[in-house]
Amino acid sequence: MDRLVLRQPDDFHVHLRQGSASADWARDAQKAGFARVLVMPNTVPPVVDSASLMRYRHSLAAAAPGLGLLMTFKIMAGMTTETLTALKAAGAVAGKLYPEGVTTNSADGVRHLKDAYPVFEVMQELDLVLCLHGEDPGAFTFDREVVFLKDFRALRQAFPRLRIILEHISTREGLETVREAGERTAGTLTAHHLLYTFDDLAGGALRPHLFCKPLLKRSEDRAALQAAAVAGEKQFFFGSDSAPHAKSNKEAALCSAGCYTMPVSLPLLASFFEERGALEKLDPFLSVFGAEFYGLPRNPGQLVLERRPWVVPLEYHGAVPPNAGETLDWQLQEV
Ligand SMILES: [Zn+2]
Repeated sequence: MDRLVLRQPDDFHVHLRQGSASADWARDAQKAGFARVLVMPNTVPPVVDSASLMRYRHSLAAAAPGLGLLMTFKIMAGMTTETLTALKAAGAVAGKLYPEGVTTNSADGVRHLKDAYPVFEVMQELDLVLCLHGEDPGAFTFDREVVFLKDFRALRQAFPRLRIILEHISTREGLETVREAGERTAGTLTAHHLLYTFDDLAGGALRPHLFCKPLLKRSEDRAALQAAAVAGEKQFFFGSDSAPHAKSNKEAALCSAGCYTMPVSLPLLASFFEERGALEKLDPFLSVFGAEFYGLPRNPGQLVLERRPWVVPLEYHGAVPPNAGETLDWQLQEV
């Protein structure tokens, strides 16, 4: 088979940044084949109210007309019911919780999960999805996700009607916890956590373009993530966590966390699902499970991937994808 026709997919976790560069990242999402993207709110300044959400959406829509923009806001302890209601009315579909200091632009994050319980209460009533960066910044880096899961289970119990997503799951325990938490709970999986381990990042020479939060983990964890994806478990769907940084911030003494994988996600995932004899599970992973969880219609459009080897560019607008310069088998057909 040399031609793969897919429903146009969704990417349920992207960082499009701010300022003039955001136009490039939004257009990249379209070129990469995505119909809709869930836009993360940790811009500078962050998206924290209806005015900043509408302003951000307006600038992205102007840059990439036709791209479906699913907007989120950054959860701050003390957010009022009025603010949250206005965010919902402005079209927000989800709020994103960043524990304080855990990743890029999270110094103003929430210190204790309990501090945001009043916000979750209102989100539950408004039926806004809660997206979690599930790491405890006080724990040892490698253990941060697993340590966070205790708080996650308490949160799950406290708000039984709230739809909760554990973003970019990186461990076997993270998957298990989501499974046990039932159908109002889901997890996103990135291409880089599915394909790489910590050894790829730092087992030989350090590869800064694979440095992300949560860190890539052990091969056992990767195997568990891969199994969940190819089994077609509907609680797990795609969110690339594409996080572009300038090359100079990645190839640096203080390397920023984040992988820019969006432009190469579909070719990478097509090869991955094909190698495991599970190509029929690619469409639901990319286009069905996430839409269902968010209560969105499936995208009407289609795209075609062709088996036509190509070399990944060394940079996209100054950001280096993790597999820059590598040859990939599948290529998106130009439309
Ligand atoms: Zn992210």
